[in-house]
Amino acid sequence: MIRKLIFIFGVLGAHAAFAQALVSNADREIVFKSVNVIPMDKETVLKDQTVVVRNGKIIAMGTNPKISSGALIVEAQGKYLLPGWSEMHAHVPAVDDFTPMKEVLMLYLANGITTIRGMLGNAKHLELRAKVRSGEVLGPNFYTTGPAFSGQTVKTAARGIEMVREEKAAGYDYLKLLPGLTKETFPGIAKTAKELGIGMVGHVSFAVGVWAAIDAGYSSIDHLDGFVEAITPGVDTLAEQETGLFGTWIAYAADTTRIPKLIKALKDKNIRVVPTQAIAERWLSPLPAKEYANDPDLKYLKAEDVKSWMNAKNGYNNNPKFNKQRAEAFVSIRRKLILACQQGGVELLLGCDAPQVLNVPGFATHHEMKYLVDAGLSPYQALKTGTVNVASYLKKPDSGTIKTGNVSDLVLLASNPLENISHTKQIEGVMIGTRWLPKTYLDSELKKLEKQ
Ligand SMILES: [Zn+2]
Repeated sequence: MIRKLIFIFGVLGAHAAFAQALVSNADREIVFKSVNVIPMDKETVLKDQTVVVRNGKIIAMGTNPKISSGALIVEAQGKYLLPGWSEMHAHVPAVDDFTPMKEVLMLYLANGITTIRGMLGNAKHLELRAKVRSGEVLGPNFYTTGPAFSGQTVKTAARGIEMVREEKAAGYDYLKLLPGLTKETFPGIAKTAKELGIGMVGHVSFAVGVWAAIDAGYSSIDHLDGFVEAITPGVDTLAEQETGLFGTWIAYAADTTRIPKLIKALKDKNIRVVPTQAIAERWLSPLPAKEYANDPDLKYLKAEDVKSWMNAKNGYNNNPKFNKQRAEAFVSIRRKLILACQQGGVELLLGCDAPQVLNVPGFATHHEMKYLVDAGLSPYQALKTGTVNVASYLKKPDSGTIKTGNVSDLVLLASNPLENISHTKQIEGVMIGTRWLPKTYLDSELKKLEKQ
């Protein structure tokens, strides 16, 4: 997976000039007039509201709040204003050049995503984070992991401990764990992370297993990694390669009566779960590659990179272990696990792991919300995974909902997403802090990012 990601990061690089932020309206009021507000603190639509924003905060809201002369008025009658979404399993190119990084940030912003957690960071990402915070670079609020902990980077327990100390000292927000950690290397990483107060996020190594991961207090387990293995009888007799990515090859034999124990363990330890279901529903789906060939999202990739994704998709479908029923069972058991998390009080965080086979940054997050609804969440619950749940996770109580005093990270939609989750794609504009980015601007930025 890592190699694939690094490769695909070439994809979003290159020429498109990155238009620097629209004028920051720090001191100017921006007013959303006569808008339907979906505040997200409860499932409701507040009709015909006027929302006043200034200096990156919502300063007033109601049917007739006071508006300064000189305010920028956004006529929003009939439209819907929501908190911007968070993408908690994002990837930003780990390169030296800021240009491809900025392009990816724009793909996220143009899709209404106002916070991202980069899941494979390097020192350049710390610089990028500073530039986003200072306003020098236009992008979503940016959190980042450091270089990943894996079988390649952590050969000994001592090195694992040392790497935790290095990454904490460098200022990364989280530690990214990849596969390949062992019963020797994992405990020292977990213990040191806990001592230093930095969260472990990402994969669960096969040799570690989800029970030890839960016990160690992961901050978030991503991809439902280790879940299928934990509920499938006889896994202890199999080698890692036999189980497949996220338990693809064994999911058909999963025992759903084992799900409640897993959910309770996650809940008791308050571990967040980032499903990245879009990987399963697209790359690891029963459908053949050709079904995705005309996906409009793919125009943001170069032809050669689309080809490599199609090869990866074909590689899965052509694996001797693949058959349609198994792939269906895999997708279906993951939907059950997601719904069980939701119903069992495990907080889901929105994230889809783009760029990853057939998942383009920003656009894939909208697919992910739909897949959460397909799994049995209501549209409101799906929207919460990217707003309210993230605010709680990041301990940012002034975000994730729309009310006076909260940050003005907002998305304006043409239609109500509570009625149909696909309406999240009907973006009329995005507000990030002090900047209002109307649809015309976002469309022109997206046009520049098309690669074919
Ligand atoms: Zn990832």
